Amino acid sequence: MAYHGAVLQVEDVALSQLAAEHGTPLFVYSKASMLAALAAYQRGFAGRHAQICYAMKANSSLGVLQVFASAGCGFDIVSGGELERVLAAGGDAAKIIFSGVGKTRGEMRQALQAGIGCFNVESEAELDVLSAVAESLALRAPISIRVNPNVDPKTHPYISTGLKDNKFGVAHEDALRIYQHAASLKGLQVVGIDCHIGSQITDATPYLDAMDRVLDLVASIEASGIALTHIDFGGGLGINYNNDTPPAADALWAQLLRKLDERGFGHKKLMIEPGRSLVGNAGVCVTEVLYVKPGELKNFCIIDAAMNDLPRPAMYQAFHAIVPLLANPTDTPEARYDVVGPICESGDWIGRDRTLAVKSGDQLAVLSAGAYCMSMSSNYNTRSRAVELLVDRATVHVIRERESTADQMRLERLVAL
Ligand SMILES: *Cc1c(COP(=O)(O)O)cnc(C)c1O
Repeated sequence: MAYHGAVLQVEDVALSQLAAEHGTPLFVYSKASMLAALAAYQRGFAGRHAQICYAMKANSSLGVLQVFASAGCGFDIVSGGELERVLAAGGDAAKIIFSGVGKTRGEMRQALQAGIGCFNVESEAELDVLSAVAESLALRAPISIRVNPNVDPKTHPYISTGLKDNKFGVAHEDALRIYQHAASLKGLQVVGIDCHIGSQITDATPYLDAMDRVLDLVASIEASGIALTHIDFGGGLGINYNNDTPPAADALWAQLLRKLDERGFGHKKLMIEPGRSLVGNAGVCVTEVLYVKPGELKNFCIIDAAMNDLPRPAMYQAFHAIVPLLANPTDTPEARYDVVGPICESGDWIGRDRTLAVKSGDQLAVLSAGAYCMSMSSNYNTRSRAVELLVDRATVHVIRERESTADQMRLERLVAL
């Protein structure tokens, strides 16, 4: 998105026009921006045997999945529901990998019957269950085991999922033994290894460190007689929310591939599971200023989007830039505001201490809202989910209609009291 003159546009379409037609709050995604983010990875892997699996929990709307499916992407799923979405969007089952610490037997059956590419197993107990489920279907489940590289948290404090004290994956020290256990199970076929060290990572160093640790394991697992066809390095590459400077995907992979080649693993099939970096900066949430409420200590800018639409600030104290749809100079004075939603929670804020020149009825765009916004949205306060639009140059596709209160109540039943 960019200003054309004073008008904020997504591709060739003015956001103010979309807000007038579809109302607010409103999510707008740029197809070109998603494909450009994907292209950076594709350039990085040019000439390699690689599979990009979009981690769809970042944004699981069908129209978004269609964009990636038609670009040849695979998908990283974390539930049976996500599997159904991929298949409904035309995704290729063979390019699906299934992550998550708590897969149920039912989800395992569903994924085995669909013929997914690989289960990323996260515990020894899960191996036994998956093997039994596969045997009961007379199938063999292709698996990789998610290992925790335990990259030093002192140098990289923002890494949150590759450490010893979290629920994900198996410990580096236990990995070889657990691989041997997996290889002994009749319902399993060991095909790979995987890791995922965290999210919103803005530095190449933890990836390089994690790769070293994983390659050490690949060497010892293969020395024990278990062949690994692929190495999956997970997702986690950050995006620019607030002057963040993550490496570009192709530059990052140039460094990682150099290390892979130096260590003699350049021939392996590579897999990655990017989520945020494919969709985060492709989306905005358009919202209207309902009220401006000056206060003794703070001024509040009350908007019609809330923590049910944009949960990241409330959940993670995350920063989203907030900009006007029309950057015309106005006679409205600038002031510092906490930008908040209508929900009855003090945690319902979208931005703090923002300098804005706003009055009631003005429209704002919350930027970098393509990832972990709609997919984390809720109906709290009986607020209906927003509309989602996919913009492709001058063409606008509605990919999700605005939810109604009737939609929300559809599965509820009044009882005879
Ligand atoms: C969430 C997740 C991803 C994607 O993370 P991003 O930070 O969005 O790239 C990839 N792999 C696994 C296992 C995940 O849980």
